[in-house]
Amino acid sequence: MNIHEYQAKELLAKWGVPIPKGVAAFSVEEAVAATKQLPGPLYVVKAQIHAGGRGKGKFKELPATAKGGVRLAKSAEEVGLAAADMLGNTLVTIQTGDAGKQVNRLYVTDGVDIAKEFYLAFLVDRATGRVACVASTEGGMDIETVAHDTPEKIQTFTIDPATGWRAHHGRSVAAALGLSGDLAKQAADTAAKLYAAFIGTDASQIEINPLAVTDDGKLMVLDAKVGFDPNALGRHPDLVALRDLTEEDPAEVEASKYDLAFIKLDGNIGCLVNGAGLAMATMDIIKLNGAFPANFLDVGGGADKEKVTNAFKLILADPAVEGILVNIFGGIMRCDIIAEGIIAAAKEVNLGVPLVVRLEGTNVELGKEILANSGLPIVSADDLGDAARKIVAEVKKAA
Ligand code: ADP
Ligand code: MG
Repeated sequence: MNIHEYQAKELLAKWGVPIPKGVAAFSVEEAVAATKQLPGPLYVVKAQIHAGGRGKGKFKELPATAKGGVRLAKSAEEVGLAAADMLGNTLVTIQTGDAGKQVNRLYVTDGVDIAKEFYLAFLVDRATGRVACVASTEGGMDIETVAHDTPEKIQTFTIDPATGWRAHHGRSVAAALGLSGDLAKQAADTAAKLYAAFIGTDASQIEINPLAVTDDGKLMVLDAKVGFDPNALGRHPDLVALRDLTEEDPAEVEASKYDLAFIKLDGNIGCLVNGAGLAMATMDIIKLNGAFPANFLDVGGGADKEKVTNAFKLILADPAVEGILVNIFGGIMRCDIIAEGIIAAAKEVNLGVPLVVRLEGTNVELGKEILANSGLPIVSADDLGDAARKIVAEVKKAA
């Protein structure tokens, strides 16, 4: 789960991380009023969307020469003009895709005089099973570009969970950023606080880009991207409250209501599968047969009729879906019960596209018989390869 920059900054400030003053605004009036709470005379008006690259982004509704989603303003009037330009408009950045994201919230913050920009991030490194700290002198830029063009300018180390953050980690960060003296101390201190925040909030990512040195020698977090481990949110109701559903795919929000693991994809074959591994294999084999999955969907091991019905509805709500492949392994759940669930769901949602079902496991013969006698145009398959070939053929036939 991701949060907005202003929420991330308010959170990190509580952990003692140095953040310039700022105020969230939902209207032009609020943006103008926010300047009264800031020192001035320089302000920055920042579009709040769950994507980076805002500074270099473009608004769909504005001329190509218009500025992006991070704008300097020298007075309350200029803040108002920038706010009016952004609110309600669609910002396209390298991270949003072509569709862009509508800007509904702004952050008005103190403009600081930047001497140098760095990059500092914490994330979960799957290879070592530890939290990794990534530091680079090349801040303010797209880190993927830095990684591609000048990988030697990125330094990474991991933190042993048994010892936690140690003084030498702080020195490593300062050295990676090429800092000495007081700035090295500030970098070590900020990195320690970010690590504490990472562990304390069960974060999956804290990315600071840029971490800036100001003209008067202060280290400041100017942009923060924070995401949390969804499996740990049960421990953090305060963080759950920060969720902005308008930033998420509507189908994925719907799926989360029914506890379905669902991710929308670009293809035309809907997949309904139990178990994440089987779901991955199903998507692979669809691709192997020359088609593309419309979604990843794991209904879970103990899926009942209601879950299967809701999953069907989700898949069918996607206009791109031209066929559905159900691939269920009846382990704890018996295949006959699953077959009945599929039939009930197919009748309830008024199935208008080809449906191929592959069942395997306990009572599979009975399950297949129930499907065959249902009177519904369900194509039965014997194994995964057979199922994928059949759904691809059915979709071609229907087209
Ligand atoms: P994004 O990464 O989405 O483009 P940032 O918050 O990183 O957005 O802003 C882009 C650039 O704007 C920064 O690299 C920095 O140079 C400048 N900037 C951002 N916030 C401030 C600020 N408070 N004061 C001065 N400059 C800023
Ligand atoms: Mg940034």
